[in-house]
Amino acid sequence: MSDYILVLDEGTTSTRAMLFASDGVLVASAQKPLTQHYPQSGWVEHDPREIWDKTLACAQNVVPKAGGAASIACIGITNQRETVVAWDRQTGEPLTNAIVWQDRRTEPFCAELREGGHEAGVQERTGLLLDPYFSGTKMRWMLDNVPEVRAAADKGTLAFGTVESWLVFKLTGGAAHVTDASNASRTLLMGLEDAQFDEGLCDLFGVARAALPGVVDMAGPLAMTAPELFGRSIPITGLAGDQQAATIGQGCLAPGQTKATYGTGAFVLTCQGSRIPRSKNRLLGTVLTQIDGARTYAIEGSVFVAGSLVQWLRDSLGIVEVASETEALARSIPDSGGVVIVPALSGLGAPHWQAEARGVIAGLSFASGKAQLARAALEAMAHQTHDLAAAYTADGAPWQTLRIDGGMSANDWMAQDLADMLGIPVERPGFVETTALGAAMLAAAGAGLYPDLASACQTMRGRLATFEPAMAADVRAARLAAWKKALSAA
Ligand code: ADP
Repeated sequence: MSDYILVLDEGTTSTRAMLFASDGVLVASAQKPLTQHYPQSGWVEHDPREIWDKTLACAQNVVPKAGGAASIACIGITNQRETVVAWDRQTGEPLTNAIVWQDRRTEPFCAELREGGHEAGVQERTGLLLDPYFSGTKMRWMLDNVPEVRAAADKGTLAFGTVESWLVFKLTGGAAHVTDASNASRTLLMGLEDAQFDEGLCDLFGVARAALPGVVDMAGPLAMTAPELFGRSIPITGLAGDQQAATIGQGCLAPGQTKATYGTGAFVLTCQGSRIPRSKNRLLGTVLTQIDGARTYAIEGSVFVAGSLVQWLRDSLGIVEVASETEALARSIPDSGGVVIVPALSGLGAPHWQAEARGVIAGLSFASGKAQLARAALEAMAHQTHDLAAAYTADGAPWQTLRIDGGMSANDWMAQDLADMLGIPVERPGFVETTALGAAMLAAAGAGLYPDLASACQTMRGRLATFEPAMAADVRAARLAAWKKALSAA
């Protein structure tokens, strides 16, 4: 029976191939690390050839575990978003290294555009802010600074794309130059309303429209792999940027349903249904799904410091040896003894947006020790998430549930504290690889293994742990008041 789903999960630090059964159970996987290139301070690059070679090697490693390509119904791809690849469509070869989402080299161009008064218009059209994070200014930088890219543009053979676009091009033997609507919505070049690359935005950013891929759905018969790669053609039926894939993997398909990934930082997306988000609180608007040309949207916000605060307790203060010890420490005392940590170690992200802010530890006394600091660190996750929730509510997008994943979500104490401080149920799936699972759901729905994405989600999502809010209102109010006071000091 050909009903396995092959997911290519293209992370920032590694590439993976994962084989799912049609009920969402992971059957096999292979992984290879990606080399990070740091040519200058603030610059981050990947080699697109390495991405392709390692993707193919991982895929070819797991395909036999399904019993061969004939047993694979479809392929889904999910990827690190915003990273830009430039290649020549005639030779199929990259023209330069990929510029990674973390790369800050285009800040001067972004500042110039902000000073030119373009941010409000760009945000209205794209849902994004003028920041080097997004793809558009990275493409412009390549055109201005890499002669091979400019020459290919002049010849008409230049192709730009994000990582999924590059991989679909290679997987199809150069037949398809496409991007899905969720990845396209991170470029600054796509209008949120029609999900098409916009001539006016391309002119503003100085990117040749002809070099851009066609924008396609996120599920459906999108492309076919070249037969020589796996011994037969396999349909590519699902594509999504990683945060959108995780949101789908968490089953957040109805307005108000929210996922938060607690890793190094925290990434939050709230489904908005078919309503286009218009944030007044510097949150981002982005495409969540596009199937049969119909779109749903999400509001996105991120907190810079989440698990990295626990890492700092471990590596710089030596309070714990492993991150998970924070849980027992937090449980060992009834409260933090008045200690409050504001984790602004690298500034504050949404909704405060204070790049210059720095961290604060408030309320120290002689009674403050390891346990109080560990507990205050975990409490800071709920405090930061609470402020983000307030911004979403102010934008007309209140949360109904919070579905958590990421390495830090394994901490039961933190999960309960989130439920308590937010006053809503917090759910955690048993299988936390929600990004890959979301890509598998899209691919399964796109291949017709399920009648639609909602039914794919329902069957494939698996078991959940639920944390119900239980904290007394006065305890919660006192926590928030102390947090607010410490925040003003940051
Ligand atoms: P990323 O994908 O950003 O690399 P992960 O999702 O792997 O991050 O999460 C790892 C982060 O979570 C680390 O910063 C670590 O300190 C934190 N972390 C992992 N397990 C726990 C735990 N049980 N309690 C608290 N923090 C944890």
